[in-house]
Amino acid sequence: MCNLKKTVLITGASRGIGKACAEIFAKRGWQVVLGYNKSESEVKQLEVSLSLKGFSVLALQADVTNQEQVKQMFIEARRVYGSIDVLVNNAGISQFRLFTDITEQEWDLMFDTHCKAAFFCTQCALEDMISNKKGSIVNVSSMWGQVGASCEVHYSASKAAIIGLTKALAKELGPSNIRVNCVAPGVIETDMMKAVSEEIKDSLCDETPLMRLGSAEEIAKAVFFLASNESSFITGQILGVNGGFVI
Ligand code: NAP
Repeated sequence: MCNLKKTVLITGASRGIGKACAEIFAKRGWQVVLGYNKSESEVKQLEVSLSLKGFSVLALQADVTNQEQVKQMFIEARRVYGSIDVLVNNAGISQFRLFTDITEQEWDLMFDTHCKAAFFCTQCALEDMISNKKGSIVNVSSMWGQVGASCEVHYSASKAAIIGLTKALAKELGPSNIRVNCVAPGVIETDMMKAVSEEIKDSLCDETPLMRLGSAEEIAKAVFFLASNESSFITGQILGVNGGFVI
C-alpha cells in the first residue's frame, strides 16, 4: 500500500488525554486509530467530528487487557491504513483504596490495564516497526509512578512499572531505530479526577508550583512531541508534565 501519511494508534482515545492526543495528531495530518473500550457513543462522536473536518480517523474497539481483542484491533488498523508508525499506550483506570483493602482482582485489573496492555499493544505494533526499522512508542505513566501516592499503591506501582518498561524497551529497540518514551502527567482535569473532591483538588493545586491543574491538551502536546521527529534523538526518557509538582 503506497501511503505517505503517518499512522498513530492511541489506546483510550474515547475520552480525556487520549481524546486530546487524537485531536492533535489528526490536526497535524496523521491518520489516527481511536482505540476505545466502553465509550462507544463518545468515540463515534469524536470520529464523526474529526472526519467532518477532513481528518482521517478510525475508531476501533478493544479491551486492552484482552490479547485477542488487541490483535484484532491491529489487524483492522493495518487493513485500513497499512503500517502503524506510532503507538500511544494511554488507556488507564484509577482507584482509591487503602492498601490493606485492595483485592487480588483489583490489583490484577490495575496491572492488566496498564502493564499487560502495554505489553500486548507494543508487541503488536512492533510487527511493523521492526521490519520498517523505525517507529516511536509513547507510554502514559503518572507522576505517582515516580513518587508514589497514598491510597493508590496498585495504581502507583503499575505506573512505576510502565517507567521500567519504557527504559528497558528503549535499550532493546534503539538499535532498530525505534524510540520509546514516557509522559508522566501530574493532576489533569479529566473524568479520572471526577472521584476527587474539590477540597482535595484545591490542596493539589496548592502543592503545584504553577498553582493549577493541567489540561488533557497540555499532556497531548508532550505526547505529540515525543512521538514526532521533533524528538528524534530522545529515547528512554520520562517527561514530567505536572506544573512542577515533581521536580
Ligand atoms: P479517562 O478520562 O478516565 O479515560 C480513560 C480512557 O482509558 C478511556 O478512553 C477508556 O476507554 C480507556 N480504557 C480504560 N480501560 C480500558 C480497557 N480495558 N481497554 C481499553 N481502553 C480502556 O482518563 P485520563 O485522565 O484521560 O487518563 C489517560 C491516561 O493518563 C491513563 O493511563 C491515566 O492513568 C493517565 N494519567 C491521568 C492523570 C489524570 O490526572 N487524569 C494523571 C496521570 C496519569 P472507554 O471509556 O472507551 O472504556
